[in-house]
Amino acid sequence: MLTKSEVASMLSRFPKFEDSCIGLPYAPRMPKHMVKETREVIAIARKFNEEVAKPLALKLDRRTHEDPDFLPWELIEEANRWGFYTMWVPKMFGGQGYNMPSSSFFLEEVASACAGIANVIGVHYLAVAGLIASGNARISKRVLREVIDGGESGKPCLLALATTEPGAGTDVEEVDLLDKGRVTCTARRVEGGYIVNGTKVFISMGHVSTWTVLSAYEDVRRPSETNIGFAVKTGASGFSFGGHENKMGQRACPASVLIFEDCFIPDDQVIMSAALVKKYSSQPNRDISQHYIDYVVSATRPGVCAFGTGVARGAFETALQYASSTEVNGRLLINQEWAQCLLAEMHKNVLLGRLAYTEANNANSLRGLYRILQIKPVYHYLRFMPHIWFDKVISPFLDMALTSRVMGKLYFDHAKPEDQRCCSGWASVAKFAGTDLGVKNCQMAIEASTHLSASSHPRCRRQKCLKNKETLCPILTQTIRNPLPTWHNHLPPGN
Ligand SMILES: Cc1cc2nc3c(=O)[nH]c(=O)nc-3n(C[C@H](O)[C@H](O)[C@H](O)COP(=O)(O)OP(=O)(O)OC[C@H]3O[C@@H](n4cnc5c(N)ncnc54)[C@H](O)[C@@H]3O)c2cc1C
Repeated sequence: MLTKSEVASMLSRFPKFEDSCIGLPYAPRMPKHMVKETREVIAIARKFNEEVAKPLALKLDRRTHEDPDFLPWELIEEANRWGFYTMWVPKMFGGQGYNMPSSSFFLEEVASACAGIANVIGVHYLAVAGLIASGNARISKRVLREVIDGGESGKPCLLALATTEPGAGTDVEEVDLLDKGRVTCTARRVEGGYIVNGTKVFISMGHVSTWTVLSAYEDVRRPSETNIGFAVKTGASGFSFGGHENKMGQRACPASVLIFEDCFIPDDQVIMSAALVKKYSSQPNRDISQHYIDYVVSATRPGVCAFGTGVARGAFETALQYASSTEVNGRLLINQEWAQCLLAEMHKNVLLGRLAYTEANNANSLRGLYRILQIKPVYHYLRFMPHIWFDKVISPFLDMALTSRVMGKLYFDHAKPEDQRCCSGWASVAKFAGTDLGVKNCQMAIEASTHLSASSHPRCRRQKCLKNKETLCPILTQTIRNPLPTWHNHLPPGN
Protein backbone atom coordinates (compact mmCIF):
# COMPACT_ATOMS: atom_id res chain seq x y z
CA MET A 1 0.00 0.00 0.00
CA LEU A 2 0.99 3.63 -0.30
CA THR A 3 2.49 5.72 2.45
CA LYS A 4 0.66 8.82 3.63
CA SER A 5 3.03 11.11 1.72
CA GLU A 6 2.67 9.03 -1.47
CA VAL A 7 -1.12 9.38 -1.25
CA ALA A 8 -0.75 13.13 -0.74
CA SER A 9 1.62 13.40 -3.68
CA MET A 10 -0.66 11.37 -6.00
CA LEU A 11 -3.72 13.38 -5.04
CA SER A 12 -2.00 16.70 -5.60
CA ARG A 13 -1.42 15.80 -9.26
CA PHE A 14 -3.85 17.13 -11.82
CA PRO A 15 -6.79 16.88 -11.40
CA LYS A 16 -6.14 17.75 -7.78
CA PHE A 17 -8.45 15.74 -5.51
CA GLU A 18 -9.15 18.74 -3.24
CA ASP A 19 -10.38 20.80 -6.19
CA SER A 20 -12.17 18.21 -8.26
CA CYS A 21 -14.03 16.14 -5.63
CA ILE A 22 -15.58 18.80 -3.46
CA GLY A 23 -18.74 17.00 -2.38
CA LEU A 24 -16.90 14.08 -0.81
CA PRO A 25 -14.95 16.00 1.88
CA TYR A 26 -17.92 18.34 2.39
CA ALA A 27 -20.54 15.61 2.96
CA PRO A 28 -19.59 14.73 6.57
CA ARG A 29 -19.31 18.38 7.50
CA MET A 30 -22.71 19.43 6.22
CA PRO A 31 -25.19 20.22 8.98
CA LYS A 32 -27.96 17.63 8.65
CA HIS A 33 -30.62 20.26 9.11
CA MET A 34 -29.67 21.78 5.75
CA VAL A 35 -31.33 18.81 4.04
CA LYS A 36 -34.57 19.39 5.94
CA GLU A 37 -34.46 23.05 5.05
CA THR A 38 -33.82 22.32 1.38
CA ARG A 39 -36.76 19.89 1.27
CA GLU A 40 -38.97 22.58 2.74
CA VAL A 41 -37.74 25.16 0.22
CA ILE A 42 -38.45 22.83 -2.71
CA ALA A 43 -41.95 22.15 -1.38
CA ILE A 44 -42.63 25.90 -1.06
CA ALA A 45 -41.41 26.47 -4.63
CA ARG A 46 -43.67 23.70 -5.95
CA LYS A 47 -46.68 25.23 -4.20
CA PHE A 48 -45.75 28.65 -5.61
CA ASN A 49 -45.48 27.11 -9.08
CA GLU A 50 -48.94 25.58 -8.81
CA GLU A 51 -50.62 28.67 -7.41
CA VAL A 52 -48.72 31.50 -9.08
CA ALA A 53 -45.94 30.78 -11.58
CA LYS A 54 -47.62 28.29 -13.91
CA PRO A 55 -50.93 30.17 -14.25
CA LEU A 56 -49.04 33.44 -14.77
CA ALA A 57 -46.14 32.47 -17.05
CA LEU A 58 -47.75 32.73 -20.49
CA LYS A 59 -49.95 35.66 -19.48
CA LEU A 60 -46.88 37.61 -18.40
CA ASP A 61 -44.99 36.69 -21.54
CA ARG A 62 -47.90 37.86 -23.71
CA ARG A 63 -48.31 41.03 -21.67
CA THR A 64 -44.66 42.01 -22.13
CA HIS A 65 -45.00 41.53 -25.90
CA GLU A 66 -48.07 43.74 -26.02
CA ASP A 67 -46.42 46.37 -23.84
CA PRO A 68 -42.60 46.26 -23.82
CA ASP A 69 -42.56 48.93 -21.06
CA PHE A 70 -44.54 46.65 -18.77
CA LEU A 71 -43.03 46.15 -15.30
CA PRO A 72 -44.02 43.11 -13.21
CA TRP A 73 -45.16 44.92 -10.05
CA GLU A 74 -47.98 42.48 -9.23
CA LEU A 75 -45.67 39.51 -9.47
CA ILE A 76 -43.12 41.27 -7.25
CA GLU A 77 -45.80 41.97 -4.65
CA GLU A 78 -46.91 38.35 -4.79
CA ALA A 79 -43.33 37.07 -4.38
CA ASN A 80 -42.91 39.51 -1.50
CA ARG A 81 -46.07 38.11 0.15
CA TRP A 82 -44.55 34.65 -0.10
CA GLY A 83 -41.47 35.98 1.74
CA PHE A 84 -39.08 35.27 -1.11
CA TYR A 85 -37.09 38.52 -0.81
CA THR A 86 -36.07 37.84 2.79
CA MET A 87 -35.84 34.06 2.74
CA TRP A 88 -32.07 33.95 2.10
CA VAL A 89 -31.16 37.12 3.97
CA PRO A 90 -29.09 36.00 7.01
CA LYS A 91 -30.84 36.15 10.37
CA MET A 92 -28.23 38.52 11.78
CA PHE A 93 -29.54 41.06 9.24
CA GLY A 94 -33.15 40.33 10.17
CA GLY A 95 -33.90 37.84 7.37
CA GLN A 96 -35.33 34.34 7.47
CA GLY A 97 -31.81 32.90 7.21
CA TYR A 98 -32.39 29.86 4.98
CA ASN A 99 -29.09 28.31 3.89
CA MET A 100 -27.84 29.81 0.64
CA PRO A 101 -27.34 26.54 -1.31
CA SER A 102 -31.05 25.82 -0.87
CA SER A 103 -31.79 28.89 -3.03
CA SER A 104 -30.43 27.02 -6.07
CA PHE A 105 -32.93 24.20 -5.57
CA PHE A 106 -35.65 26.79 -5.21
CA LEU A 107 -34.61 28.57 -8.42
CA GLU A 108 -34.52 25.30 -10.35
CA GLU A 109 -38.10 24.59 -9.30
CA VAL A 110 -39.44 28.03 -10.22
CA ALA A 111 -37.44 28.19 -13.46
CA SER A 112 -38.94 24.85 -14.48
CA ALA A 113 -42.23 26.76 -14.66
CA CYS A 114 -40.85 30.10 -15.90
CA ALA A 115 -37.24 31.32 -15.99
CA GLY A 116 -38.41 34.95 -16.09
CA ILE A 117 -40.35 34.60 -12.84
CA ALA A 118 -37.41 32.79 -11.24
CA ASN A 119 -35.19 35.71 -12.24
CA VAL A 120 -37.61 38.27 -10.76
CA ILE A 121 -36.96 36.55 -7.43
CA GLY A 122 -33.37 35.32 -7.85
CA VAL A 123 -31.54 38.37 -9.12
CA HIS A 124 -32.34 40.26 -5.90
CA TYR A 125 -29.86 37.89 -4.23
CA LEU A 126 -27.11 38.89 -6.68
CA ALA A 127 -27.21 42.30 -5.03
CA VAL A 128 -27.65 40.80 -1.54
CA ALA A 129 -24.43 38.84 -2.18
CA GLY A 130 -22.80 42.02 -3.51
CA LEU A 131 -23.60 43.76 -0.24
CA ILE A 132 -22.76 41.02 2.23
CA ALA A 133 -19.56 39.89 0.47
CA SER A 134 -18.15 43.38 0.97
CA GLY A 135 -17.92 42.66 4.69
CA ASN A 136 -19.43 46.10 5.33
CA ALA A 137 -21.88 45.15 8.07
CA ARG A 138 -23.15 48.67 8.71
CA ILE A 139 -24.43 49.46 5.21
CA SER A 140 -25.58 45.84 4.73
CA LYS A 141 -27.70 46.18 7.86
CA ARG A 142 -29.15 49.51 6.76
CA VAL A 143 -30.17 48.34 3.30
CA LEU A 144 -31.32 44.87 4.35
CA ARG A 145 -33.40 46.38 7.17
CA GLU A 146 -35.47 48.07 4.46
CA VAL A 147 -35.82 44.75 2.63
CA ILE A 148 -37.09 43.11 5.83
CA ASP A 149 -39.47 46.00 6.53
CA GLY A 150 -40.72 45.70 2.94
CA GLY A 151 -41.43 42.01 3.52
CA GLU A 152 -43.44 42.83 6.63
CA SER A 153 -45.32 45.85 5.30
CA GLY A 154 -46.19 44.34 1.92
CA LYS A 155 -44.34 47.16 0.11
CA PRO A 156 -41.47 45.28 -1.53
CA CYS A 157 -37.92 46.62 -1.26
CA LEU A 158 -35.75 44.96 -3.89
CA LEU A 159 -32.05 45.25 -4.64
CA ALA A 160 -30.23 45.38 -7.99
CA LEU A 161 -26.53 45.12 -8.75
CA ALA A 162 -25.02 47.37 -11.42
CA THR A 163 -21.55 46.72 -12.76
CA THR A 164 -21.99 46.33 -16.55
CA GLU A 165 -21.40 49.42 -18.70
CA PRO A 166 -21.91 49.99 -22.42
CA GLY A 167 -18.17 49.40 -23.03
CA ALA A 168 -17.40 46.85 -20.31
CA GLY A 169 -19.19 43.58 -19.54
CA THR A 170 -16.92 40.58 -19.10
CA ASP A 171 -14.14 43.06 -18.34
CA VAL A 172 -15.60 44.08 -14.99
CA GLU A 173 -15.60 40.48 -13.75
CA GLU A 174 -11.77 40.15 -13.60
CA VAL A 175 -9.34 42.80 -12.41
CA ASP A 176 -6.84 41.82 -15.13
CA LEU A 177 -9.46 42.58 -17.77
CA LEU A 178 -10.78 45.66 -15.96
CA ASP A 179 -7.75 47.74 -16.89
CA LYS A 180 -8.16 46.72 -20.54
CA GLY A 181 -11.90 47.43 -20.68
CA ARG A 182 -13.55 50.77 -21.35
CA VAL A 183 -15.18 51.70 -18.07
CA THR A 184 -16.54 55.22 -17.87
CA CYS A 185 -18.55 55.39 -14.64
CA THR A 186 -16.61 57.86 -12.47
CA ALA A 187 -16.73 58.70 -8.76
CA ARG A 188 -15.21 62.08 -7.85
CA ARG A 189 -14.36 62.75 -4.22
CA VAL A 190 -16.13 65.78 -2.77
CA GLU A 191 -16.88 66.98 0.75
CA GLY A 192 -18.93 64.30 2.53
CA GLY A 193 -19.11 61.83 -0.34
CA TYR A 194 -18.72 61.28 -4.07
CA ILE A 195 -20.21 62.66 -7.27
CA VAL A 196 -20.98 59.81 -9.66
CA ASN A 197 -21.36 60.12 -13.43
CA GLY A 198 -21.90 57.34 -15.93
CA THR A 199 -24.28 54.76 -17.38
CA LYS A 200 -24.94 51.14 -16.47
CA VAL A 201 -26.70 48.76 -18.84
CA PHE A 202 -28.51 45.39 -18.68
CA ILE A 203 -29.24 45.84 -14.98
CA SER A 204 -31.79 43.18 -14.05
CA MET A 205 -34.74 44.56 -12.08
CA GLY A 206 -33.17 48.06 -12.07
CA HIS A 207 -36.46 49.91 -12.63
CA VAL A 208 -38.24 48.06 -9.83
CA SER A 209 -35.50 48.07 -7.20
CA THR A 210 -35.26 50.41 -4.23
CA TRP A 211 -31.50 50.08 -3.77
CA THR A 212 -28.75 49.50 -6.32
CA VAL A 213 -25.32 48.15 -5.47
CA LEU A 214 -23.19 50.19 -7.85
CA SER A 215 -19.56 50.05 -8.96
CA ALA A 216 -17.67 53.13 -10.14
CA TYR A 217 -14.04 54.20 -10.52
CA GLU A 218 -12.13 57.11 -9.02
CA ASP A 219 -9.67 57.01 -11.93
CA VAL A 220 -10.91 55.30 -15.09
CA ARG A 221 -7.30 54.95 -16.33
CA ARG A 222 -6.56 52.73 -13.29
CA PRO A 223 -9.95 51.12 -12.60
CA SER A 224 -8.67 48.01 -10.84
CA GLU A 225 -6.87 50.12 -8.23
CA THR A 226 -9.54 52.74 -7.77
CA ASN A 227 -12.85 50.93 -7.95
CA ILE A 228 -15.41 51.83 -5.39
CA GLY A 229 -18.77 50.30 -4.47
CA PHE A 230 -21.86 52.22 -3.39
CA ALA A 231 -25.39 51.55 -2.28
CA VAL A 232 -27.57 54.13 -4.05
CA LYS A 233 -31.26 54.59 -3.51
CA THR A 234 -33.78 54.98 -6.31
CA GLY A 235 -34.97 58.56 -6.36
CA ALA A 236 -31.57 60.01 -5.38
CA SER A 237 -30.95 63.30 -7.16
CA GLY A 238 -28.99 62.68 -10.38
CA PHE A 239 -29.99 58.98 -10.58
CA SER A 240 -32.52 58.15 -13.31
CA PHE A 241 -33.55 55.26 -15.53
CA GLY A 242 -33.27 55.00 -19.29
CA GLY A 243 -35.35 52.37 -21.06
CA HIS A 244 -35.32 48.68 -20.43
CA GLU A 245 -34.38 46.08 -23.00
CA ASN A 246 -36.92 44.42 -25.26
CA LYS A 247 -35.46 41.05 -24.29
CA MET A 248 -35.60 37.82 -26.30
CA GLY A 249 -36.54 35.75 -23.25
CA GLN A 250 -37.22 35.92 -19.52
CA ARG A 251 -39.25 38.98 -20.36
CA ALA A 252 -40.88 39.16 -16.94
CA CYS A 253 -37.52 40.38 -15.61
CA PRO A 254 -36.64 43.86 -16.96
CA ALA A 255 -33.01 44.69 -17.85
CA SER A 256 -32.60 48.41 -17.24
CA VAL A 257 -30.39 51.29 -18.24
CA LEU A 258 -29.27 53.33 -15.21
CA ILE A 259 -28.06 56.90 -15.68
CA PHE A 260 -25.98 58.84 -13.17
CA GLU A 261 -25.58 62.57 -13.78
CA ASP A 262 -23.73 64.39 -11.01
CA CYS A 263 -25.33 62.04 -8.52
CA PHE A 264 -24.11 62.77 -4.99
CA ILE A 265 -23.63 59.65 -2.86
CA PRO A 266 -22.74 60.30 0.78
CA ASP A 267 -19.82 58.58 2.53
CA ASP A 268 -22.13 56.42 4.63
CA GLN A 269 -23.35 54.72 1.42
CA VAL A 270 -19.86 53.60 0.37
CA ILE A 271 -19.72 49.81 0.51
CA MET A 272 -16.08 49.29 -0.43
CA SER A 273 -13.23 51.61 -1.37
CA ALA A 274 -9.44 51.70 -1.28
CA ALA A 275 -9.67 53.85 1.87
CA LEU A 276 -11.97 51.34 3.66
CA VAL A 277 -9.84 48.39 2.59
CA LYS A 278 -6.73 50.00 4.12
CA LYS A 279 -8.41 49.85 7.54
CA TYR A 280 -8.32 46.07 7.67
CA SER A 281 -5.84 44.84 5.09
CA SER A 282 -2.36 45.57 3.85
CA GLN A 283 -3.17 43.93 0.52
CA PRO A 284 -3.57 46.26 -2.48
CA ASN A 285 -7.13 47.33 -3.33
CA ARG A 286 -6.71 45.49 -6.64
CA ASP A 287 -6.27 42.10 -4.90
CA ILE A 288 -9.12 42.75 -2.47
CA SER A 289 -11.34 43.69 -5.43
CA GLN A 290 -10.59 40.36 -7.09
CA HIS A 291 -11.40 38.51 -3.83
CA TYR A 292 -14.67 40.41 -3.69
CA ILE A 293 -15.58 39.68 -7.32
CA ASP A 294 -14.72 36.01 -6.72
CA TYR A 295 -17.02 35.83 -3.71
CA VAL A 296 -19.92 37.40 -5.58
CA VAL A 297 -19.59 35.26 -8.71
CA SER A 298 -18.95 32.11 -6.67
CA ALA A 299 -22.10 32.65 -4.63
CA THR A 300 -24.37 33.63 -7.51
CA ARG A 301 -23.32 31.56 -10.52
CA PRO A 302 -24.65 28.30 -9.04
CA GLY A 303 -28.02 30.11 -9.06
CA VAL A 304 -27.62 30.84 -12.77
CA CYS A 305 -26.86 27.15 -13.29
CA ALA A 306 -30.06 26.41 -11.37
CA PHE A 307 -32.04 28.68 -13.72
CA GLY A 308 -30.63 26.73 -16.68
CA THR A 309 -31.33 23.41 -14.99
CA GLY A 310 -34.90 24.54 -14.34
CA VAL A 311 -35.27 25.45 -18.00
CA ALA A 312 -33.88 22.02 -18.95
CA ARG A 313 -36.39 20.43 -16.61
CA GLY A 314 -39.35 22.45 -17.87
CA ALA A 315 -38.50 21.38 -21.40
CA PHE A 316 -38.02 17.75 -20.36
CA GLU A 317 -41.29 17.58 -18.46
CA THR A 318 -43.18 19.21 -21.33
CA ALA A 319 -41.68 16.74 -23.80
CA LEU A 320 -42.40 13.82 -21.50
CA GLN A 321 -46.02 14.84 -21.15
CA TYR A 322 -46.31 15.26 -24.91
CA ALA A 323 -44.70 11.89 -25.64
CA SER A 324 -46.98 10.20 -23.10
CA SER A 325 -50.14 11.54 -24.70
CA THR A 326 -49.35 11.60 -28.43
CA GLU A 327 -49.81 8.63 -30.73
CA VAL A 328 -47.82 8.11 -33.91
CA ASN A 329 -48.93 5.31 -36.23
CA GLY A 330 -51.13 3.91 -33.48
CA ARG A 331 -48.34 3.83 -30.88
CA LEU A 332 -47.67 6.31 -28.12
CA LEU A 333 -44.52 8.30 -28.81
CA ILE A 334 -43.13 7.33 -25.42
CA ASN A 335 -43.09 3.68 -26.54
CA GLN A 336 -40.88 4.47 -29.54
CA GLU A 337 -37.19 3.95 -29.13
CA TRP A 338 -36.02 7.23 -30.68
CA ALA A 339 -38.32 9.19 -28.36
CA GLN A 340 -37.10 7.21 -25.37
CA CYS A 341 -33.47 7.99 -26.30
CA LEU A 342 -34.30 11.65 -26.62
CA LEU A 343 -36.14 11.78 -23.31
CA ALA A 344 -33.36 9.88 -21.54
CA GLU A 345 -30.85 12.38 -22.89
CA MET A 346 -32.98 15.28 -21.66
CA HIS A 347 -33.38 13.70 -18.23
CA LYS A 348 -29.63 13.17 -18.04
CA ASN A 349 -29.10 16.87 -18.78
CA VAL A 350 -31.36 17.87 -15.89
CA LEU A 351 -29.47 15.61 -13.49
CA LEU A 352 -26.09 16.92 -14.68
CA GLY A 353 -27.20 20.53 -14.25
CA ARG A 354 -28.35 19.82 -10.70
CA LEU A 355 -25.07 18.05 -9.90
CA ALA A 356 -23.13 21.03 -11.25
CA TYR A 357 -24.84 23.61 -9.04
CA THR A 358 -24.76 21.28 -6.04
CA GLU A 359 -21.01 20.81 -6.41
CA ALA A 360 -20.43 24.54 -6.93
CA ASN A 361 -22.39 25.21 -3.74
CA ASN A 362 -20.38 22.51 -1.95
CA ALA A 363 -17.24 24.43 -2.92
CA ASN A 364 -18.65 27.62 -1.37
CA SER A 365 -19.64 25.69 1.74
CA LEU A 366 -16.28 23.99 2.17
CA ARG A 367 -13.88 26.69 1.02
CA GLY A 368 -15.81 29.89 0.24
CA LEU A 369 -18.28 32.47 1.44
CA TYR A 370 -20.48 30.02 3.38
CA ARG A 371 -17.62 28.21 5.11
CA ILE A 372 -18.01 29.87 8.50
CA LEU A 373 -21.81 29.94 8.35
CA GLN A 374 -21.94 26.20 7.77
CA ILE A 375 -19.60 25.03 10.48
CA LYS A 376 -22.10 22.91 12.45
CA PRO A 377 -22.22 24.88 15.75
CA VAL A 378 -22.35 28.22 13.90
CA TYR A 379 -25.09 26.96 11.58
CA HIS A 380 -27.22 25.67 14.45
CA TYR A 381 -26.68 28.82 16.46
CA LEU A 382 -27.77 31.04 13.54
CA ARG A 383 -30.67 28.76 12.66
CA PHE A 384 -32.22 28.24 16.06
CA MET A 385 -31.56 31.38 18.07
CA PRO A 386 -34.76 33.46 18.01
CA HIS A 387 -35.01 36.60 15.86
CA ILE A 388 -35.32 38.76 18.93
CA TRP A 389 -31.80 37.74 19.99
CA PHE A 390 -30.36 38.97 16.69
CA ASP A 391 -32.47 42.13 16.69
CA LYS A 392 -31.70 43.15 20.24
CA VAL A 393 -28.24 41.75 20.93
CA ILE A 394 -26.36 41.23 17.65
CA SER A 395 -27.78 44.03 15.55
CA PRO A 396 -26.17 46.96 17.49
CA PHE A 397 -22.72 45.41 16.86
CA LEU A 398 -23.29 45.58 13.10
CA ASP A 399 -23.16 49.37 13.23
CA MET A 400 -19.69 49.37 14.74
CA ALA A 401 -16.74 50.10 12.44
CA LEU A 402 -14.82 47.36 14.26
CA THR A 403 -17.35 44.72 13.13
CA SER A 404 -16.85 45.65 9.47
CA ARG A 405 -13.08 45.60 9.95
CA VAL A 406 -13.22 42.13 11.51
CA MET A 407 -15.52 40.88 8.74
CA GLY A 408 -13.25 42.43 6.09
CA LYS A 409 -10.24 40.74 7.64
CA LEU A 410 -12.01 37.40 7.83
CA TYR A 411 -13.39 37.60 4.29
CA PHE A 412 -10.37 39.01 2.51
CA ASP A 413 -7.15 38.81 4.52
CA HIS A 414 -7.77 35.23 5.63
CA ALA A 415 -9.07 33.98 2.29
CA LYS A 416 -6.66 31.66 0.51
CA PRO A 417 -6.31 32.44 -3.22
CA GLU A 418 -6.44 28.71 -4.07
CA ASP A 419 -9.77 28.38 -2.24
CA GLN A 420 -11.20 31.35 -4.07
CA ARG A 421 -10.00 30.05 -7.43
CA CYS A 422 -11.57 26.68 -6.69
CA CYS A 423 -14.95 28.24 -5.77
CA SER A 424 -15.11 30.66 -8.68
CA GLY A 425 -13.91 27.89 -11.04
CA TRP A 426 -16.71 25.56 -9.95
CA ALA A 427 -19.25 28.38 -10.11
CA SER A 428 -18.23 29.33 -13.64
CA VAL A 429 -18.30 25.74 -14.87
CA ALA A 430 -21.72 25.31 -13.28
CA LYS A 431 -23.02 28.50 -14.87
CA PHE A 432 -22.18 27.57 -18.41
CA ALA A 433 -22.97 23.89 -17.91
CA GLY A 434 -26.47 24.61 -16.57
CA THR A 435 -27.36 27.25 -19.11
CA ASP A 436 -26.05 25.22 -22.06
CA LEU A 437 -28.05 22.21 -20.87
CA GLY A 438 -31.17 24.36 -20.60
CA VAL A 439 -30.84 25.52 -24.20
CA LYS A 440 -30.03 21.98 -25.37
CA ASN A 441 -33.14 20.51 -23.76
CA CYS A 442 -35.37 23.21 -25.23
CA GLN A 443 -34.03 22.40 -28.65
CA MET A 444 -34.65 18.68 -28.14
CA ALA A 445 -38.17 19.32 -26.83
CA ILE A 446 -38.96 21.31 -29.95
CA GLU A 447 -37.64 18.50 -32.09
CA ALA A 448 -39.79 15.99 -30.23
CA SER A 449 -42.94 18.06 -30.41
CA THR A 450 -42.70 19.28 -33.98
CA HIS A 451 -41.40 16.33 -35.98
CA LEU A 452 -44.92 15.07 -36.61
CA SER A 453 -45.88 18.04 -38.72
CA ALA A 454 -46.86 17.37 -42.34
CA SER A 455 -43.83 19.21 -43.61
CA SER A 456 -40.38 17.86 -42.93
CA HIS A 457 -38.85 21.29 -43.15
CA PRO A 458 -37.77 22.38 -39.68
CA ARG A 459 -38.83 25.99 -40.32
CA CYS A 460 -42.41 24.95 -41.22
CA ARG A 461 -42.57 22.76 -38.15
CA ARG A 462 -41.46 25.62 -35.99
CA GLN A 463 -44.10 27.89 -37.46
CA LYS A 464 -46.81 25.34 -36.85
CA CYS A 465 -45.61 25.00 -33.32
CA LEU A 466 -45.63 28.76 -32.79
CA LYS A 467 -49.26 28.87 -33.92
CA ASN A 468 -50.04 26.31 -31.24
CA LYS A 469 -47.97 27.99 -28.61
CA GLU A 470 -50.80 27.93 -26.05
CA THR A 471 -49.83 24.34 -25.43
CA LEU A 472 -46.15 25.07 -24.88
CA CYS A 473 -44.37 26.59 -21.95
CA PRO A 474 -42.80 30.03 -22.53
CA ILE A 475 -39.33 28.54 -22.52
CA LEU A 476 -40.19 26.47 -25.57
CA THR A 477 -41.89 29.26 -27.50
CA GLN A 478 -38.75 31.30 -26.96
CA THR A 479 -36.55 28.56 -28.34
CA ILE A 480 -38.76 28.16 -31.37
CA ARG A 481 -38.23 31.80 -32.20
CA ASN A 482 -34.48 31.48 -31.78
CA PRO A 483 -33.57 27.98 -32.84
CA LEU A 484 -30.17 26.42 -32.50
CA PRO A 485 -28.78 23.74 -34.84
CA THR A 486 -31.22 20.87 -34.75
CA TRP A 487 -31.07 17.44 -33.20
CA HIS A 488 -32.12 15.59 -36.31
CA ASN A 489 -29.64 12.78 -35.97
CA HIS A 490 -31.78 11.29 -33.19
CA LEU A 491 -34.87 11.15 -35.36
CA PRO A 492 -35.70 8.14 -37.52
CA PRO A 493 -35.42 8.66 -41.29
CA GLY A 494 -38.48 10.27 -42.85
CA ASN A 495 -39.48 12.23 -39.75
C1 LIG B 1 -30.55 39.52 -19.49
C2 LIG B 1 -29.32 40.10 -18.89
C3 LIG B 1 -29.32 40.49 -17.54
C4 LIG B 1 -28.20 41.06 -16.98
N1 LIG B 1 -28.22 41.47 -15.68
C5 LIG B 1 -27.17 42.18 -15.18
C6 LIG B 1 -27.22 42.76 -13.88
O1 LIG B 1 -28.20 42.61 -13.15
N2 LIG B 1 -26.18 43.49 -13.47
C7 LIG B 1 -25.06 43.68 -14.24
O2 LIG B 1 -24.15 44.37 -13.80
N3 LIG B 1 -24.97 43.12 -15.47
C8 LIG B 1 -25.99 42.39 -15.95
N4 LIG B 1 -25.93 41.83 -17.21
C9 LIG B 1 -24.74 42.03 -17.99
C10 LIG B 1 -23.89 40.77 -18.08
O3 LIG B 1 -23.20 40.59 -16.89
C11 LIG B 1 -22.97 40.99 -19.28
O4 LIG B 1 -23.78 40.88 -20.43
C12 LIG B 1 -21.87 40.00 -19.32
O5 LIG B 1 -20.94 40.32 -18.31
C13 LIG B 1 -21.17 39.98 -20.69
O6 LIG B 1 -20.78 41.26 -21.03
P1 LIG B 1 -21.10 41.85 -22.47
O7 LIG B 1 -22.54 41.65 -22.74
O8 LIG B 1 -20.52 43.22 -22.53
O9 LIG B 1 -20.31 40.90 -23.47
P2 LIG B 1 -18.77 40.96 -23.82
O10 LIG B 1 -17.96 41.17 -22.57
O11 LIG B 1 -18.55 41.92 -24.92
O12 LIG B 1 -18.54 39.49 -24.31
C14 LIG B 1 -19.01 39.03 -25.58
C15 LIG B 1 -18.44 37.65 -25.83
O13 LIG B 1 -16.98 37.69 -25.82
C16 LIG B 1 -16.46 36.79 -24.84
N5 LIG B 1 -15.32 37.42 -24.17
C17 LIG B 1 -15.30 38.64 -23.63
N6 LIG B 1 -14.06 38.90 -23.11
C18 LIG B 1 -13.33 37.79 -23.32
C19 LIG B 1 -11.98 37.44 -23.03
N7 LIG B 1 -11.13 38.25 -22.42
N8 LIG B 1 -11.57 36.20 -23.39
C20 LIG B 1 -12.39 35.35 -24.05
N9 LIG B 1 -13.67 35.64 -24.37
C21 LIG B 1 -14.13 36.84 -24.01
C22 LIG B 1 -17.61 36.57 -23.85
O14 LIG B 1 -17.52 35.30 -23.21
C23 LIG B 1 -18.83 36.64 -24.74
O15 LIG B 1 -19.07 35.41 -25.38
C24 LIG B 1 -27.03 41.22 -17.77
C25 LIG B 1 -27.01 40.80 -19.10
C26 LIG B 1 -28.15 40.25 -19.66
C27 LIG B 1 -28.10 39.82 -21.09
